[in-house]
Amino acid sequence: MTGSTEVELVGECARCLEPISDRMVVGFQELFVYEDQRNPSEEDDEVSTLEGDLVDLEPLLRDAVVLALPFQPLCEDDCPGLCPDCGARLKDDPDHAHDAPIDPRWAGLAALKQDQHDQN
Ligand SMILES: [Zn+2]
Ligand SMILES: [Zn+2]
Repeated sequence: MTGSTEVELVGECARCLEPISDRMVVGFQELFVYEDQRNPSEEDDEVSTLEGDLVDLEPLLRDAVVLALPFQPLCEDDCPGLCPDCGARLKDDPDHAHDAPIDPRWAGLAALKQDQHDQN
């Protein structure tokens, strides 16, 4: 059996988590044998058998689609992802910037300074 099918893909960008949907055409090819013509001495589970006169395409399609899926789907090839500090989407806000983050070793001093400011 040889064929192809069009599948609809839904997922999210591996970098910015934006939902993405796509369509893909997947081809497949598989040899099916009749159950009663299967060689009983051959303990090969890889051989696909017909169920009566019917073919169960689901495992075949699932394997074909999974193999064709991108390992890390992206909303676009050069997706800049998310800001590591605040999680903003860098694609929406390319000039996104933060003041230099406070060194965690000095964070206590910043809080102290804030306290003094509040008292004044
Ligand atoms: Zn993205
Ligand atoms: Zn940010």
